[in-house]
Amino acid sequence: MSNGPIADEVKRRRTFGIISHPDAGKTTLTEKLLLFGGAIQLAGTVKARKSARHATSDWMEVEKQRGISVSSSVMQFDYAGHTINLLDTPGHQDFSEDTYRVLTAVDAAVMVIDAAKGVEAQTIKLLEVCRLRNTPIITFVNKMDREVRESFDLLQEIEEVLKIDCAPITWPIGMGKTFRGVYHLLEDRVLRFAPGEEKRSEAEVIKGIANAQLDELFPLEVGKLREEVELIQGASHPFSLGDFLAGKQTPVFFGSGINNFGVQEILQALLDWAPPPQPRVAGVTAAGVNAADTRLVMPAEAPFTGFVFKIQANMDPKHRDRIAFFRICSGRYSSGMKVKHVRMGREMKLANALTFMANERVLMEDGVAGDIIGIHNHGQLHIGDTLTEGENLGYKGIPYFSPELFSATRLRDPLKSKQLQKGLQELGEEGAIQVFEQEGGNMLLGAVGQLQFEVVAQRLKDEYKVDAVFESADIHTARWLTFPDEVTRRNFEREQGMRVGKDVDGNPVYLATSRYNLEVTMEKWPKVGFHATREHG
Ligand code: GDP
Repeated sequence: MSNGPIADEVKRRRTFGIISHPDAGKTTLTEKLLLFGGAIQLAGTVKARKSARHATSDWMEVEKQRGISVSSSVMQFDYAGHTINLLDTPGHQDFSEDTYRVLTAVDAAVMVIDAAKGVEAQTIKLLEVCRLRNTPIITFVNKMDREVRESFDLLQEIEEVLKIDCAPITWPIGMGKTFRGVYHLLEDRVLRFAPGEEKRSEAEVIKGIANAQLDELFPLEVGKLREEVELIQGASHPFSLGDFLAGKQTPVFFGSGINNFGVQEILQALLDWAPPPQPRVAGVTAAGVNAADTRLVMPAEAPFTGFVFKIQANMDPKHRDRIAFFRICSGRYSSGMKVKHVRMGREMKLANALTFMANERVLMEDGVAGDIIGIHNHGQLHIGDTLTEGENLGYKGIPYFSPELFSATRLRDPLKSKQLQKGLQELGEEGAIQVFEQEGGNMLLGAVGQLQFEVVAQRLKDEYKVDAVFESADIHTARWLTFPDEVTRRNFEREQGMRVGKDVDGNPVYLATSRYNLEVTMEKWPKVGFHATREHG
C-alpha cells in the first residue's frame, strides 16, 4: 500500500463481495481470485477452511473456526496497481442476515450462478439487497465443465427472475465433456479451455471467430458457436458501462472456477468496470441519527468518516472484546486518531485498527474510502454506528430484516435474570440475534436462521454465565411500526398492546401470530406503517 493523495488512493480501490446460492461456487471463486491476485500461493487454502466450517453446525466447531473466519471476513490484496477489498459473505444460510449487511459495505458484487441450476432462492434474496443501492453486478456462470442448461435459457432466466438485463461478454463453446472454452465478444477471440486446478499463466487464444483454426479444432462445435454469436449480436443487450454502473445491466462471463477458467476475466472486469468507492448518503442532524436532512459524502473529502456494518465477537474468550468491521467512506485512517462516536456523542481514540490479508490480520497503517478496518471494542460500537472527525452524520441504509424464527427465553436459574437481560441486550446490539421486549418484560428472540439460537445460547453460557432455555414462541413474523401521529400510536398500542414489542433500540414492533393475523391488523390500521426491514441508526 502506498501513501498518495486521497483522491488517487481512492481511485485505485475496488471493494466488492461475492453473492451466490450455497454450492454454486463462491468459495472456489474467492480462492481463485486470491490466487490470480497473488494473495495466496496455494489452491486449497480457502477451501480447507470452508469444509471445516461446514463439517458440523455444532457451535463449538464454529467457535474453533472463528479465528479464521474473522480474518477471512475481509481480504485485501494489491493487484495490477489496484488495492482490492474482497468482503466475504457468510455462505451458511443461517447467517444470511450478516450477508445482507456486508452488502451495504461494497461498491460492486460478483454473482455466481451454477449453470446447471440457474437462478436459485438465495440468489434472488441477495440480489434484492443489491438492488436497494443499485449495486453494479458482474455475473459469473460457473461449472461449464458439467452438463448444464442452455446458455440462452440461463440468460433469459436471469433477466426474468432477477429483473436485470444481461450483456454476455464471453460465450461458451460446448459444455461438460465437450466444453472447449469461451468466445470473447468484445475482443473477438476464443480462449481455449484446459482442465486443471493449478493456475496457468494464460489460456490459449485464437483470434477471430472466422478463424479456420476453429474449424480444425472444434469441427462439431464451431457451427453452433457462430450461429449463437450472430444471434447475440443481433438480439442481446450490448455492454453499456453506464447501465452496468446504474445496476440495470450485468455483464455475463462463462467459466469453470474449479478449473481456473474465466477467473482472470472477472478480475479484469472488476478493475476495468467496477466503480471505485462511491459517495454515500448520510443523515445530518444535531444528534446525527434518524435524520431527515441528508448530504452526500464524497470519498476524497479530507475528514474521516465511515460506519460499522458487522460485529464479530473476538476469538479470545479471556477478553470479551469484539471486532467491529468498519467501512471507511471518506478521509484517511491513521493510528491514534481521535474520532467522534456520533450516536453516543463522545470522542473515541482509534488505534491498532486491523486490516485483513488472505491469511492473517495485520495492523492497519493507512486506509482510505473503500477500505475496511477492524476496530477492537467492548460493546460501545453497534451495527450502523457512524464515526466522524467531528461532524454529526449518520450513514443510512444498513438494514435489519424481519426475523423468520422466534424463540422465547426461560432461565434455569431465575436469580440470573439481570445477566440474561444484559447478555441479550448486548448480543442484540451486536446483531447476533434480534431481541424484542414484550409487555411484562418478556424477552423474545428473533433470528433469520436456526443456528443463530445455538450461537446465542452458547455465548450466553460462556460470556455471561447464564444458562437459558429457548422455547418455541407463537410468533409468525415481526413488522416495524411507524405511526402518522401520536394519537394513532396511542390508540394502536391500547388495542394491540399484547402484540407490540420493542427492539433493542426501543423501536415499536408488531409481533404477528400468523400471516392472517398480520393482514387483518394491517387492514384495520391502514395509516400505520408495517415494515419488513428497518435501517440501523
Ligand atoms: P459455495 O458453497 O458457493 O462456496 O461453493 P463451493 O465453491 O464450495 O463449490 C461447491 C461445489 O462445487 C464444490 O464441490 C466445488 O468443488 C464444486 N465446484 C466449484 N466450481 C466448480 C466448477 O467450475 N466445476 C465443477 N464441476 N465443480 C465446481
